[in-house]
Amino acid sequence: MTTAPPQPQFCPWCGTPIPFEPHEHEPRFETLVDQARARGDDPPPLPQRVRDALAGDSFVGACPACRAVSHVVTHHATPG
Ligand SMILES: [Zn+2]
Repeated sequence: MTTAPPQPQFCPWCGTPIPFEPHEHEPRFETLVDQARARGDDPPPLPQRVRDALAGDSFVGACPACRAVSHVVTHHATPG
């Protein structure tokens, strides 16, 4: 458990090498919980290992060749 997931280094659309930067985003499950609470529901919290598996690490990179901005989320494989 010492190696971080590899950071993406290429545009997924055209393959041009581009720099990616770590990018903070709200995991989808947190958005859903917020929406449920806004409706008055109180969903039970997810187990931490499920949250970790869903959250992942996200990166963003802009490609000058095809002008695409790519968001890449890398997910950890959860042992066990
Ligand atoms: Zn590209």
